Amino acid sequence: MTHITSCLRKGDFAWTAATTKAFEEIKDKLSTASVLRLPDFSKTFEVACNASGVGIGGGGTISARVEGFERVRFYYTECLDFGEIYSGLSRDPLKPRKDFIISEGYLFYGSRLCVPQTSLWDFLAWDLHAGGAVGHFGRDKTIALVENRFLWPGLKRDVTRVVCHCRVCRTTKGS
Ligand SMILES: [Zn+2]
Repeated sequence: MTHITSCLRKGDFAWTAATTKAFEEIKDKLSTASVLRLPDFSKTFEVACNASGVGIGGGGTISARVEGFERVRFYYTECLDFGEIYSGLSRDPLKPRKDFIISEGYLFYGSRLCVPQTSLWDFLAWDLHAGGAVGHFGRDKTIALVENRFLWPGLKRDVTRVVCHCRVCRTTKGS
């Protein structure tokens, strides 16, 4: 992951072997079983807002949604946000469109992976907030972590929502 970050820091985009390796790590991580058992966050949040005191993760409150990372590539063309750029680049790869490139079927802006509209938005926000060994960073730090690696419209809004609804943070920080 650090390689992707450092190639951003230089301000110019260089797709190096190290960047490729970092991307492979992201793909490996996202291809694991945790993605395939992605919770349906809309339902989770309904429960969280319920004043009855029922906790997130109680019996039957998390439903599964299958969303393999490899399938992301097939969502680009129909995506309202990235569809036009993706189709244009596919037709005419040599015509530059800002810093967008397609690699292995994935759309990148610089070294940030563009994520089409899927439940991966919530998953990625959640994973970078709570998935690490340390984890549960505040809103701004989590936004920075996600922005280093990914791009989608409303990224800040989605991360904020996930952080605000994190049960662990609510419990431990006593708000
Ligand atoms: Zn948290």
